Amino acid sequence: MCKSPFKNLCLTQTQISQSLHAIAAQLGVQTASLPSLPTSKAKVLRKDLAGSNNLSNGISNGTTPEIETDVLIVGAGFGGVYLLHRLRDELGLNVKCFEAGKDLGGIWHWNCYPGARVDSPIPVYEYSLGKVWKNWTWSCKYPGWRELRRYFDHVEEQLQVKKDVHFDSTVVGSEWDAKKEQWIVRSEDGKVARCKYFILATGFAAKRHFPDWKGLDTFEGTMHHSSFWPEEDVDVTGKKVAVIGTGSTGIQIAQECAKKAATLTVFQRTPNLCLPMQQSTLTKDEQAERKKDYEQFFRHRLTTFAGFSFDFVDKNTADDTPEEREKFFEKLWQNGGFEFWLATYKDMLFDTTANRHAYDFWAKKVRARINDPIKRDILAPLEPPHAFGTKRPSLEQDFYEQFNNPHINVVDVKANPIVEVKPKGILTADGTFHEVDLIALATGFDSVTGGMKNMGLLDVNGVPLAEKWRTGTWSYLGMACAGYPNMFFLYGAQVIFPMPQHYTQANPPQGPTAFSNGPTCVEVQGGWIIDAIAKMRKEGIRTVEATKEAEEEWRKNVTELSDKTLFPGTNSWVRFPSLIPPFSRAVLLRLRIYHGSISSFHSPFLPSDPFEFHKHNKAMADADR
Ligand SMILES: Cc1cc2nc3c(=O)[nH]c(=O)nc-3n(C[C@H](O)[C@H](O)[C@H](O)COP(=O)(O)OP(=O)(O)OC[C@H]3O[C@@H](n4cnc5c(N)ncnc54)[C@H](O)[C@@H]3O)c2cc1C
Repeated sequence: MCKSPFKNLCLTQTQISQSLHAIAAQLGVQTASLPSLPTSKAKVLRKDLAGSNNLSNGISNGTTPEIETDVLIVGAGFGGVYLLHRLRDELGLNVKCFEAGKDLGGIWHWNCYPGARVDSPIPVYEYSLGKVWKNWTWSCKYPGWRELRRYFDHVEEQLQVKKDVHFDSTVVGSEWDAKKEQWIVRSEDGKVARCKYFILATGFAAKRHFPDWKGLDTFEGTMHHSSFWPEEDVDVTGKKVAVIGTGSTGIQIAQECAKKAATLTVFQRTPNLCLPMQQSTLTKDEQAERKKDYEQFFRHRLTTFAGFSFDFVDKNTADDTPEEREKFFEKLWQNGGFEFWLATYKDMLFDTTANRHAYDFWAKKVRARINDPIKRDILAPLEPPHAFGTKRPSLEQDFYEQFNNPHINVVDVKANPIVEVKPKGILTADGTFHEVDLIALATGFDSVTGGMKNMGLLDVNGVPLAEKWRTGTWSYLGMACAGYPNMFFLYGAQVIFPMPQHYTQANPPQGPTAFSNGPTCVEVQGGWIIDAIAKMRKEGIRTVEATKEAEEEWRKNVTELSDKTLFPGTNSWVRFPSLIPPFSRAVLLRLRIYHGSISSFHSPFLPSDPFEFHKHNKAMADADR
């Protein structure tokens, strides 16, 4: 029996007799339609990528000629653009991209909510492509969404990818044509593409999560999911605002709106253990000076745990005296960003006592900033809500100080859940009615796997990916799946996350997605995919497909790695990409994200010399022999 993680395709005959749209309708998994609304005053809430797009590129439904291409990429964010450029301009392949949005940028195209900005600093959060960074200058260390959009305009000027991107093109189905060894991919507006290599660069945020509270659709005020925020913005001046959720997005929206709103109420399920951003401006001169070292910097970025510029110190927490520890923590705190999380003692994510030291320092610093004892205990309790750092912390600027204003409040919805949304506000279990004009749903995403399961992807036997992953995520390296020859994905399911050293959890991403720096992650994984395709072409390998054994093995690796850390004790989207019905905890427990580091993922599978990678990937080549 072939031991390779990949096998030759040519196994089965695909069963392609029914149109994907019909299957979609049967399964009810794609093209979610907007709900009918019970009251005339309530407004339609946008809920999905699909179902709302105009046609673009002059291609109209029904009359579109089939697009024949070597590679079809789905998604034009950091990942898709990187792959399109390198596969087209370095390998000379014919590459096309289907993107649901109207422009490049991925999440930065979608997210324009108040206060949206990065939490990876510059130049960590950018491409390592010299063509792009050499003549681009940022205004500050943590830029906001407008600047990110200008950055993608600059990327376009340098790489000219748009001519190969079909915008407003939401992929709703794919099937394998075994005879021609091609994928047939369909978009919601009727485009059909045939490709030899099919790459999903759909990120982790393609499927938004909406709460299922009674009465949500009856609300008469303004309500938006953070990633469907209107481009023209919403003026919150003098408004009564509710922010639901305290992930990074909720923190950013609340911090921004608190300065203008008449009242602001934050509905918190779990405290976000936010870290100080320590934002600063960046001058052109200082960036020019730093650029002398950029090549080395970007190489170094690949070697760190999470793809940032810093790493854990080679010391355990108990190696320092309490005084030394306090001094060290204070230094990390003042440096700001994720240093207190990822440049700290190496046992912080593994040892309960070490982790508690970190939490206690965090709580001491944050509690000192909140005057009201009730708000203080909700936002920064003395007892940790979970092991510190096992959920991605957010960065804040003056989030905690906002609660010293009497009109800014926080509700602990774990103790006092939301029971109903009414036309004029929100009712909580204790009977309090919170009158609001605007609800910002910062309720996140059915992360990673949600988007992929929502795309109507059928395997070689016509089985939907949603069905294959019904009881857990199965992949090889978080980049390929049994039953899906020549299909790769990145920044997604079972990906390596802070790339290799430890990984965790149950059916999530199984890759390094959540804890890694996005651009590093997509370049590492994108590089692997590019190398794999280059190798296939060089050696005449027509198809590669992950074996079930390889999936089992990868899952085992992910689980074992995870179990060595404190991650398994924490509920988060990293671990449970869907803390979302209808998944049961048992199902979610089968999902795993790779909690290894970028460097450890990078080294075994993705060496910096692309040709070295052949030996790691030898199994792929063997598969076709
Ligand atoms: C508000 C916000 C802030 C963030 N800040 C940071 C940060 O500071 N640091 C960090 O490391 N990471 C951050 N992230 C994570 C972020 O996802 C990555 O940094 C990075 O954007 C990943 O790039 P990507 O190309 O893989 O995915 P995305 O940027 O998510 O792009 C995926 C694209 O695929 C498209 N797509 C999805 N499904 C379909 C379909 N069916 N058909 C057609 N197109 C489809 C989407 O429209 C989207 O444009 C942030 C995420 C969010 C939401």
